[in-house]
Amino acid sequence: MRRTLIKSAMIISMDGAIGDFRTGDVLVEGNRISDVRASIDLGSGATETEFVDGTGRIVIPGLINAHMHTWQTALRGYAANWTLLEYFRRMHAGLATVFRPEDIYIATLLGALNQINCGTTTLVDWCHNNPTPDHTDAAVRGLIESGIRAAFFHGSPKPEPKPGEPHFSEVPHPHGEVKRLLAGPLADRNGLVTLGLAILGPHYSTLDVAMHDFRLARELKLIASMHQGGGPAKTPGGWEKLIEAGLVGAGINIVHGNDLPDGLLDRMIDLGVSFSVTPENEMIQGHGFPITGRLLKRGVRPTIGIDLESVLAGDLFSAARVALSMQRSLDNAEARKESGTIPTTTTIPVREALRWITIEGARMLGRENQIGSLTPGKLADLVIINASDLNLFPVHDPVATVVMQTSLANIEAVMIGGAWKKRNGRLLVEALDTKKELLAQSGRRLVQDIERQGRAA
Ligand SMILES: [Zn+2]
Repeated sequence: MRRTLIKSAMIISMDGAIGDFRTGDVLVEGNRISDVRASIDLGSGATETEFVDGTGRIVIPGLINAHMHTWQTALRGYAANWTLLEYFRRMHAGLATVFRPEDIYIATLLGALNQINCGTTTLVDWCHNNPTPDHTDAAVRGLIESGIRAAFFHGSPKPEPKPGEPHFSEVPHPHGEVKRLLAGPLADRNGLVTLGLAILGPHYSTLDVAMHDFRLARELKLIASMHQGGGPAKTPGGWEKLIEAGLVGAGINIVHGNDLPDGLLDRMIDLGVSFSVTPENEMIQGHGFPITGRLLKRGVRPTIGIDLESVLAGDLFSAARVALSMQRSLDNAEARKESGTIPTTTTIPVREALRWITIEGARMLGRENQIGSLTPGKLADLVIINASDLNLFPVHDPVATVVMQTSLANIEAVMIGGAWKKRNGRLLVEALDTKKELLAQSGRRLVQDIERQGRAA
């Protein structure tokens, strides 16, 4: 069995029972973490083991990106000045309609590789540009080829309806296509890439469609994730009806949720719904303030997603930092309003933000027993940060270093399921330049195609 022993590193396990080590060792055997402690002595078995000098390094669990539309990677930055309404019109009703399967494939592959490069080991790929099974299979192929652990959330496209066609809000999630995926490429429920549903939900569909989709997810024991917010709801009062029907509970994931009224938010939390905040995009596109603080006040934590590389950067450390800073800012403003002065203490410690992008992501996926912390028995998904780098040195509080100061430049190594995906600051991937050229070609063609149709991209 392949063994890797990381020696003498700073360790942030994100497991309360194990805690942190100022100097400690992590042992990986096969695809799992087998030990985390101050010092591991392997005795006679040492010859078969790869030793990694962790001096001056911080080891953390692999990050979990809870929400990203990876299919938009070839359009990086293209939508940076669009509000949500422009995004609906120009991306979903526009650019999305000219994607071919090969565009989905190369975007998903390189978007996922960049996630690994940035320290993400589990990606929730919220893929809602699947007009044909070929598009879907192309996305899944891109994820598998990247080597990332992924939850592929299968969704449906949102074009303007052609004459005689129903509006997307009236189209139930395609049952047959989901079953095809479960019988074929995503049959292994413990595989590296697993399936979930990216449904419309009552904010974007009729009540009948929402009922159908919630039931489908329950029948197939799949997570159902949906956007909530952005303009008026398609089905006002839809959530109350879904709750009455007993369809809302663990396994339901809400993305954004900025405008959820307090009473409904309370009920959802009681029922075990999870929440994914995409802080930077919510602020940029006009969703409203992230609900991070409203969740924390109610005793639950958010997960964090990137959402759109067509708008912003894919680095999850930045997203967590934005979520933390934004909420501290709101809390500080509130305190100043009440007392007229600066609060005496901060409301959210930095460790919270690291929870959001590790163990909370695992919990959202129902996989907290498998990923999200450096715990013996869990899958060996981890990140090594070079804390000797100029921007991180000296380290007083490793958690603060990770949350407040670490950037992509400091991510020295990434391991997924016991296999190195990045070493010495470099992704271990073949022919990256060729793949990048394909991505560039795809981006150029998408924009040209939409322009040729006489529609402003
Ligand atoms: Zn989204």
